[in-house]
Amino acid sequence: MAPRKKSGPARTARTSGKAARRLPQANGPQAYVPSSDLERFLVDKMVSVRSAPSNGTTVENLLYSSTPKVSSIGYSFGFVVGREMSGRLGGNSGLPKAMGLVGMQCTESSKHRNTTVTSRPYGPSGHSLGSIHLYESGVIAGFLSARKGIRMAARETECYYGGAVSCRFVAAPSKTASMHQDKVPLEEIMDGIARYLSSTEIRPHPSEYRRILAFVPLLKNPMNKQIVRLLTMSGSRIARYSGKSDAKRIIGSIANYFGAYVSSASISESGKSIIKLKYESYNSIYPYVSMPNALIAGFLSAVLDGSAEINLSANNRNAYTATITIKKNRA
Ligand SMILES: [Zn+2]
Repeated sequence: MAPRKKSGPARTARTSGKAARRLPQANGPQAYVPSSDLERFLVDKMVSVRSAPSNGTTVENLLYSSTPKVSSIGYSFGFVVGREMSGRLGGNSGLPKAMGLVGMQCTESSKHRNTTVTSRPYGPSGHSLGSIHLYESGVIAGFLSARKGIRMAARETECYYGGAVSCRFVAAPSKTASMHQDKVPLEEIMDGIARYLSSTEIRPHPSEYRRILAFVPLLKNPMNKQIVRLLTMSGSRIARYSGKSDAKRIIGSIANYFGAYVSSASISESGKSIIKLKYESYNSIYPYVSMPNALIAGFLSAVLDGSAEINLSANNRNAYTATITIKKNRA
């Protein structure tokens, strides 16, 4: 059974156009607070549900790069996920299987006590995003620590998204879960998210437990409020890379990235635009759903110079529908 969430009355959030500075703050019931039950549930699902691999964890990793504190949370969370997967997949199971589940194909080679992992994310690349695979570094460290029975730390030394042929991770025994990550300026993070989502055709994916899992630490407040704000601004930045003519494709890509789909999109240059997004029961976790909603609201508000209102309603299967309405600002 899926972790319980509150369905209750519809939530409404608004965001202003252009800079989209106002936070799309949901009214209504208090946000679902992720717990370790949710994390266990998601790891179980990820290991047991057989599904084709899809895009790597690009947006999550860019968000995890925002501050050293958040980077440390992303890495440590990956560590827990890797350790849990090692337990579920069996002690002698190889890293490629675990990495495949988080969206990367890989090979591993060991020398003395060190392990080198050469890996490549599923899905497109070439966006010069830098070395971003922080969460996966944690997964590798956690997985190897559990398998070897000693504390390992892992670090990405080259990244496919930074222009290298593949991502390269080096894992070595370590007394602490050390990881080194430079702080990436928020401007670069927002820009990276905007470039990735505007230039990538992201296909729908039938089961996105993996995606929600990678986002779990970012769902907790107060961090989630900042993340939603950052995504709203990233959304408005997508307008720099694409315009109205491409709006439907971009909205579809954003929805698909998060495991949702667009059930209808009516985009008007002069009046009111309405986008309906459908979420499945398994990804109708609040505030997870607020992230694609924020991106799309930010994007369309900027493209149409309007203000967005977001309404969430749940059907009897507890699956959300988000209705994003953009009203053009008066001149
Ligand atoms: Zn990488």
